[in-house]
Amino acid sequence: MPEEKKRSRLGVMGGTFNPIHYGHLVTAEEALFQFNLDKVIFMPAGVPPHKTDKEILPPEERYILTVIATASNPDFFVSRLEIERKGPSYTIDTLLELHEIFGPEVKLFFITGADAVWEILTWRNAEKLVELTEFIAATRPGYSLEKFKKLHVLPEDKGRVKGKPKVSIMEIPALAISSTDIRRRVRENRPIRYLVPEGVASYIEKSGFWKD
Ligand code: NAP
Repeated sequence: MPEEKKRSRLGVMGGTFNPIHYGHLVTAEEALFQFNLDKVIFMPAGVPPHKTDKEILPPEERYILTVIATASNPDFFVSRLEIERKGPSYTIDTLLELHEIFGPEVKLFFITGADAVWEILTWRNAEKLVELTEFIAATRPGYSLEKFKKLHVLPEDKGRVKGKPKVSIMEIPALAISSTDIRRRVRENRPIRYLVPEGVASYIEKSGFWKD
């Protein structure tokens, strides 16, 4: 009898990453460890759905910052799928493409912030989405899980019912760091050292992002 092939486990780290910071990196590393993932692909959003904020750097710049931040980790990769796709970056399109590339033998875990995850049922083609992936929702300490109860997506929910997302919640203390705070600090000439990797801080400074 041939030995059953182990299904590989792929983390897909979705976010705007405007900019990427240590909170994101700790989240991905923790997901890799807790969920026994083989690798994590960071997926900077091209045009995030529902966002028109002028503070959002061009996709190519957020991609470069993400590459700089993840370069030293052999288990982290960065994808250009969303930044090259025209129009809003719907997660369903990304997961369908990954499913096509890697095949059904790869199990997908979509990792992102809890605020985004709790709205997944409003996302485009939600029913197909929950068939394609499990979700890992990263929270800041002290984050209330009350609203997840309303969605019936708390971790104690076993298995996956049609149309019902499988969501696991991870509390990440390093998510006290936020992209919003980093942009504010840059504008106010306050330090961002130790909040983002050194190369990211240098690239932000050299490019003059968020200065005007
Ligand atoms: P967001 O609203 O900018 O972020 C929500 C919260 O989650 C923020 O506190 C954010 O902190 C945090 N966060 C974002 N990404 C994270 C990550 N990977 N790990 C840990 N914390 C994270 O979220 P968004 O960037 O717009 O959306 C997140 C993902 O969901 C993206 O991949 C986006 O494409 C997807 N999404 C899809 C749809 C759809 O398909 N219709 C709709 C909405 C979102 P920071 O600001 O510090 O990152």
